[in-house]
Amino acid sequence: MITPFAPATCPTCGTELAPRLLACPACGRLVHGDELRAIVTRAEAARAAGDATAALVEWRRALELVPDGSAQHQTIRDHIQALGREVDGVRAAATAKPNTASPLAERAQRAEKASRRGPIGAILAALVAVLLKGKFAILFLLGKLKFVLLGFTKLGTLSSMLLSVWVYASMWGWKYAVGLIVSLYLHEMGHVAALSRYGVRATTPMFVPMLGAYVRLQQPLTDPVQDARTGLAGPVWGLVAAVVAYVVFHVTREPLWAAIAGTGAFLNLFNLVPIWALDGSRGFRSMSRMQRWIAVLVAAGAFAVTREGLLAVIAAVAALRAFRTNPEGVSDSTGTALYCWLVATLSVLAFVAHAGAPHGR
Ligand SMILES: [Zn+2]
Ligand SMILES: [Zn+2]
Repeated sequence: MITPFAPATCPTCGTELAPRLLACPACGRLVHGDELRAIVTRAEAARAAGDATAALVEWRRALELVPDGSAQHQTIRDHIQALGREVDGVRAAATAKPNTASPLAERAQRAEKASRRGPIGAILAALVAVLLKGKFAILFLLGKLKFVLLGFTKLGTLSSMLLSVWVYASMWGWKYAVGLIVSLYLHEMGHVAALSRYGVRATTPMFVPMLGAYVRLQQPLTDPVQDARTGLAGPVWGLVAAVVAYVVFHVTREPLWAAIAGTGAFLNLFNLVPIWALDGSRGFRSMSRMQRWIAVLVAAGAFAVTREGLLAVIAAVAALRAFRTNPEGVSDSTGTALYCWLVATLSVLAFVAHAGAPHGR
């Protein structure tokens, strides 16, 4: 059955509206006004409940329903920017003051207070505290693990991943291939984690043999700071993966693990070149001119120490971007510090892991 196309008309002025139009061309009335009001109500309720991420999901949906360049568009972008700061702020507060809000932690504190009653009380309290902490750690890790495995439930991710493993395995053996793909996967899941925190719709990772992997955004990152943090989250998770591989190498003395750590560190460093759609380019979006020069100095310093050619490339490309002023007028010292820390740590790791892997990368 084919439904006949009935052209919509503007309830205010009667002008015929073409499909996909967001506002009436004659009087400016928003086509999705009712839906927008419902979204705003839900967004405000989520924010009042303290769920900034849920509010961000709503505002991003609203952004798709108002015309680009309109006053409403700018207002919604401001909301998205403010909520992004809230998400980051909550995380900072959570790391600074762990467990204070949870009832289990309150119980642990009460147990600690009870410990002043005597040595047996103190031992019991200590035991309770350890058990509770263990429970937190396990719950925390299970939550993370569930998230990390999320991509495996998507057929596209899984099949493209297996194809990549097969291609790499045919060249370098399956152990190295699996290690490399897991490193890439964790890097991508870093992006996915940041995107879900900021309420941005995106695909799960897709792998392209010989080129790596990517996550496709389905909504724009309008705020430069959120864009930068999302970009740098990939190398942060990638660094963790490379460090774990290096620790395993240290314990087992198996050169394969050093090769995985070294390649992982190198690939994450490559992603920090501030050019094209690479993560480093997103990281640079939130930096002022002065902050970009600091990044140049860090990359040049790391090159002086390790003699890794890639660092000279990073320093040179970063310098080219530092000559131009940032049109968005932002200055993000946390993002700059994160970028510099990543360049420094990944350089050192690539350097020491390379020394441990006689077969090179
Ligand atoms: Zn109208
Ligand atoms: Zn990335």
